[in-house]
Amino acid sequence: MGYNISYIQQLIDYIKARVTQHQDGSVKYVFKNEFFMDLVISICKRSNEMITDQHRLFRDASDPVIYVEKKREEYYSIFQKYCHGATPAAILGEIICQKLKEPIEQSVYKKTARDLTDEMRSNCPSLNANRSNLEKHILKTLAEEEDFNKYMNYIHKPRGHFKSFIRDEVSRYITDRFSFSVLPKMTAKIKLLQQKIMEAAHESTEHVEENRGDVGLWLKSFTQTLSDELIFSEKDLSGVKHDDVDDFNLLEDVIKKELPDIMTDISSRFNTETFPVKLDSKLRPDEILIDHFCQCCWVQCPFCGAICTNSMEDHHGDHSAPFHRVWGINGTYYSSTQNLCPNICTNVVASHQDFNTPHGRFKYRDYRTAGGDYAGWSISPDLSELNYWKWFVCRFQKDLEKHYSKTFEGSDSDHRYNHQILQMRVKDKIQFLIHDLNYKTTYF
Ligand SMILES: [Zn+2]
Ligand SMILES: [Zn+2]
Repeated sequence: MGYNISYIQQLIDYIKARVTQHQDGSVKYVFKNEFFMDLVISICKRSNEMITDQHRLFRDASDPVIYVEKKREEYYSIFQKYCHGATPAAILGEIICQKLKEPIEQSVYKKTARDLTDEMRSNCPSLNANRSNLEKHILKTLAEEEDFNKYMNYIHKPRGHFKSFIRDEVSRYITDRFSFSVLPKMTAKIKLLQQKIMEAAHESTEHVEENRGDVGLWLKSFTQTLSDELIFSEKDLSGVKHDDVDDFNLLEDVIKKELPDIMTDISSRFNTETFPVKLDSKLRPDEILIDHFCQCCWVQCPFCGAICTNSMEDHHGDHSAPFHRVWGINGTYYSSTQNLCPNICTNVVASHQDFNTPHGRFKYRDYRTAGGDYAGWSISPDLSELNYWKWFVCRFQKDLEKHYSKTFEGSDSDHRYNHQILQMRVKDKIQFLIHDLNYKTTYF
């Protein structure tokens, strides 16, 4: 049934093989058993949610028991009508309405998702422009929350952090507006669909009468008229016996009578939880926006780890970023010391100092001559300091030192400055911190 508990053993064997393979390489350390256990638990925990989710989706789609259980009510109502002596036309009308449920629901969710995605691309402040703007909003949110672990996630796993930020923004946008913006959109779409289905039924009846056709022609005309609106074809009715249907006016009447109830039933299930679940992942607003914002260059500055903001994955020309960071933030320290670097790329590339690479010693002002990753970056010299990262180092100095087991000693962490910001109200603080980010994204 798609997922089996023995897969956990397979996963553990796989992790063990990879750890052994790593250990057999040229490493100067030995893993303890505790490390292996922690590693397995951490990987399983992370995978758990994804596997559980996929398992549920797979079962819902493939388990005959669940499928039949879902269909129980509709088959029962058809059976009941049959027993009460309903004509073949009435029974076919009933079956068509039941079969339309799923395609109607899919169509409404799909169209609403598309509208919402467009709406967010123009209304949502973090998502209505380019990726530098998105990154500015990420930095703003991080400063509001002041959660060190989230900062570390952003610094060390930028792509994952961007993705989860977009998912949170989309989910908040939909939840906040569900009742006054999303739901009315869905209701309007369902009303329009109802009208189109009724028109299609009427046109098909006229078409058959004009051409003296049979039920096959009626179904063909009906499904073709709706083909732009719904994924519904004659195949969906395969196995349904309908050769003896000859009263097309009755067929049309039954559909017109049953349809409003079907629509009410579908509408009653619209809510914030079903919204993401009912949609194929390719069609979900968050996935579309992630695709849009994340299919771009992710190369990081060789000094500070700032992400290139170019929107093309394989862009021509140099990598560049509007905000470079204090180096110590990603753990960079002065060689043969325990001191984290307080430098910022844009300041240092204007200086006469040197730096070491495995290929030799180079001047910061000629950093491109170091070749490799350095050659592909355009870092403009700039003597201003970003308040944002200056504040971050002051605010999280202790956490950074603990995280990297190094110190910022020897550099003059500006306590007066820190104190000045800590005295500010949250709103003023954020405004102060993102002021130069705003300036840089506007003029970059
Ligand atoms: Zn940099
Ligand atoms: Zn780039």
